[in-house]
Amino acid sequence: MKYDCKIQTSIENNYFHPKSMRSLWVAVLLVFFVSPSLVEAEPYRISGIITYSDGTTVNYNDVEIVCNSQEYDCHPFRGTESTTDMYGIFTLDLDIEEYHDGAELILNVRNENFSHIIDISEMRNSSQNFVANDIQLLQSRPPAPILSGFTCGLIIFSLVFGMVLVRTATRLMTPLGRAEFVGYRAPRIVQCPECSGHIEQHRLISHLIVEHEIEPLDAGEIAGIVFSEIEMK
Ligand SMILES: [Zn+2]
Repeated sequence: MKYDCKIQTSIENNYFHPKSMRSLWVAVLLVFFVSPSLVEAEPYRISGIITYSDGTTVNYNDVEIVCNSQEYDCHPFRGTESTTDMYGIFTLDLDIEEYHDGAELILNVRNENFSHIIDISEMRNSSQNFVANDIQLLQSRPPAPILSGFTCGLIIFSLVFGMVLVRTATRLMTPLGRAEFVGYRAPRIVQCPECSGHIEQHRLISHLIVEHEIEPLDAGEIAGIVFSEIEMK
């Protein structure tokens, strides 16, 4: 009975009362999930033109935010990226909070890093609605893409492909070419050395044997001479 009594009192204690426990947890959850949205985030836009060392624009190229490891205020924006347009202009849109003011972002373009210090007042006072950040790379413009190995290979490949295509097409325009295309070979016509008659190559030996009564061995020899003369032509 003594222990029962003790439990009873602890349950009745306000702090450990199940109902209070529940409301305490609700309060904790509210702090975790609602409070970030209570802090006012505001849009921050960085925009500018990116050029190579010779002043030509860097078109259709990635711009990515990277961070110095010790610059923790940069970390939420790490990996944010954008691509320059056909005029070399990029735009990075961020949602920042008051405490990000003065944080250093690193803008990475073609493996070169450029510092950008977040300046909230400059953003607020900007008439063009962005903080200007033009970038000039140290590297010069890469050679024209037409000279690159891949493009060169591609051109050669398409030339060869085109030639094969044209050759096949012209062959297919003649009836004989069409027949050859599906595997038919036109027989070669040779001249019989005995009677000067024109005859298909594969029938010459039997012709010599049958029509001119030549021994098979000799017929083969004669035919061989006729064939080799054709090859020479
Ligand atoms: Zn003959």
